[in-house]
Amino acid sequence: MNKLIAYKCKKCGRIMYPRHSRCLSCNGRAFEEISPAGECKLLTYTQIWNLPWGIDERSRTLGIVEFENGVKAMGWLKVRDAKVGMKLKANWEAVRVIKGQEVCGLTLYPAR
Ligand SMILES: [Zn+2]
Repeated sequence: MNKLIAYKCKKCGRIMYPRHSRCLSCNGRAFEEISPAGECKLLTYTQIWNLPWGIDERSRTLGIVEFENGVKAMGWLKVRDAKVGMKLKANWEAVRVIKGQEVCGLTLYPAR
């Protein structure tokens, strides 16, 4: 898995994640790669009990966040009392093990 990258249309500026071959707004085909930057805001979250193989805990909380540059992404929410709208800090680290290999993903921590 690669680092989280979103795609910004060079024509109209729309940000898309994941990538589409054509811009959903203007049909443009040229994109600039951007990485999530700064703090992000929690849009929604959910607790998952049926976890895929390779994860040890009984449950995990997944959050969807929006970064200051408009990128939206889903990550593992490592917050005890999650509240929609709270500020978070994103990190990129190992989140599970598949066939002995650590797989990295987005993790979310309280901003302070
Ligand atoms: Zn566009």
